[in-house]
Amino acid sequence: MDWPEPAPAQPAVFIGAGRYRRHSYGENHPLAIPRVSLTQDLIAAYGALRPHEFLPARVATVPELAWFHDPEYIAAMQRCQVLGKVTHRYRQRHNIGNFENPFFDGFFTTPATATGGSIQGAEAVLAGRVAFNPAGGMHHAMPDQARGFCFFNDPVLAILRFRQAGLRVLYVDVDAHHGDGVEYAFRDHPEVITFSVHMDTGYAYPFVGGRIEDCGSRGNAVNLPLPPGVNDSEYRVLFRQIWPRLLAAGVPDVVVLQAGTDALGPDPLGKFNLSTRFYLELVREIMLGAPTDAHGTPRLLVTGGGGYHPLALARCWTGVWAVLSGRSLPDALPRAAADLLRAVDWDMDEDEDYFPGFFTGRLDGPNMGPVRPEVLDRTQRLIRQHPLFGGHVDS
Ligand SMILES: [Zn+2]
Repeated sequence: MDWPEPAPAQPAVFIGAGRYRRHSYGENHPLAIPRVSLTQDLIAAYGALRPHEFLPARVATVPELAWFHDPEYIAAMQRCQVLGKVTHRYRQRHNIGNFENPFFDGFFTTPATATGGSIQGAEAVLAGRVAFNPAGGMHHAMPDQARGFCFFNDPVLAILRFRQAGLRVLYVDVDAHHGDGVEYAFRDHPEVITFSVHMDTGYAYPFVGGRIEDCGSRGNAVNLPLPPGVNDSEYRVLFRQIWPRLLAAGVPDVVVLQAGTDALGPDPLGKFNLSTRFYLELVREIMLGAPTDAHGTPRLLVTGGGGYHPLALARCWTGVWAVLSGRSLPDALPRAAADLLRAVDWDMDEDEDYFPGFFTGRLDGPNMGPVRPEVLDRTQRLIRQHPLFGGHVDS
């Protein structure tokens, strides 16, 4: 090995499964790319995953899935896997077997494994470890329907697992898209606060909701929709204003972070322009703000989420794992890691701005820039008007 193995400073667990290595949503789908397996390989190339830190994900059980999902929908997913296809009736009823949420091998088992992983992640946090389930974060799924490439809503089930233990939960969603399914599940729940920063639904999926005004009957949903092009400077300003207020007003016992990487500059679906360097600063801030257990370990579960540029995603999630496990990895990629990234089947034509850095280091940025008045105004309006912060929303 050409790399000294860094020692972890924090009890963290990485949740994965062999089946993600064979998993694809099929050609021409944004999720035709390697994600969890590439991340895991990159981490391994740094020598940054010890055997006791890896937890194989288990398949969520039907009763667990039914904490949130309709039994008919769960049965339909199982039935389609057996049939090897999606029937017309299921397509109509559950929004599956179409371009958005296509049929693939392991149609039930793979999403149910990603979901089982997030429930295990919650249990690992309850047992005193920081947990990362990069296959999770399927925040758009609804009780009876797949939405936005998401079949089962693992963040919802992980949060419900924390609720079984009586914990008050703060869900933070930094994916470029509104965390609509998670908000839907908990918008009227007094013990769960959802916070989502996202591309304004006026121009981005899911094209409805996620406005500052959409705060639930008890003010538990906190949304900050933003214009395209958000840079590191803007995100830092808004986060520093909102995050301490969220912690103070929310008084969480645990934080669940949905860490989709589609807010990174190179992402082909996201329209934000964050750097990897800033993204990791953000994850560190969230970890440092999270409540701690009796041993001083942050009570923090991190899931994956969106992210459609495999190289940007794998570099970023490798960094997320380093933050969570308390490792300081060098910026330079070990040779084996660079080789892994070069071997990914990915059209680089549109990546000229980023290309030189993809294979040399795991970091990029900072992407500093002017802080636009529109971003400041929205942040101020959220703080002034949101009931959680003592305000009043005019609807
Ligand atoms: Zn997304």
